[in-house]
Parts: sequence; structure tokens; C-alpha cells
Amino acid sequence: MDNCLFCRIVNKEIQAKIVYEDGKMLAFEDIRPQAPVHLLLIPKPHFASLNEAPEGAETLLGELLFRAREIAHERGIGASGYRIVLNTARDSGQEVFHIHFHLLGGRRMEWPPG
Ligand code: 5GP
Ligand code: ZN
Repeated sequence: MDNCLFCRIVNKEIQAKIVYEDGKMLAFEDIRPQAPVHLLLIPKPHFASLNEAPEGAETLLGELLFRAREIAHERGIGASGYRIVLNTARDSGQEVFHIHFHLLGGRRMEWPPG
């Protein structure tokens, strides 16, 4: 998608602090971190949100979750805890319409979310 911000990060047209990359996915630092650790994990193929995820994307989405777990442990927050967020559509506050998991940690989280 030409005008998708995160596709442009995938294509290296926009810079990001990439912490993990393979053929299927990318993880990078959120530009406005809300916690000491705040990363975004995205699949390289574009789909706007979970609502648009195609049949067959289950494996890739699961791999993103497992990668988030791996990175959480690498960052030293595996045992202390972390939160993975998948905002979907308007009421969630989703702002970027290329599906992404937030990985947040390094501080105590509150519940319920705002
Ligand atoms: P959403 O609200 O869609 O779930 O989250 C979008 C996230 O993308 C926000 O946390 C925001 O800070 C982050 N973000 C927006 N623009 C950029 C950017 O250009 N680079 C990076 N690294 N993060 C961005
Ligand atoms: Zn995209």
C-alpha cells in the first residue's frame, strides 16, 4: 500500500528503530513510547486491522505474538510482565490502519484501560 505509514517503514521509505526483522514481520520502537518498553510488531503484508485479516493469516498472527513474547524476554520484562495490545477500529483508538501489536512493559500497567 503506497500511502500506508507502516508499509513505508517495511519498505524502508521511512526510518524506524527496527529491533527485529525477518521475511514475514518487523518489530520497531514506537515513536511516542507510553512505557519504558513500547514496541510495535507488524506483519509485512498489509491488512488494515484484525477485521481485515484474511483467512490463512492465523499462523502469521500467532508468530507475531510469539515473537513479542521472545522480545519481552530479551528486554528483561518477560517475568515482570508486559501487555500486548491490538487496537481494532474506531472505538479502540486505532490510528494506523496497518495491523500492529503493541508490546508494552517496564512499568506497572493499570486496568481497566482508558
Ligand atoms: P494505534 O493507535 O493505531 O494502535 O497505534 C499507532 C501507534 O503508532 C502509536 O502508538 C503511535 O505512537 C505509533 N506511530 C505513529 N506514527 C509512527 C511513526 O511514524 N513511527 C513509529 N515508529 N511509530 C509511529
Ligand atoms: Zn500497510
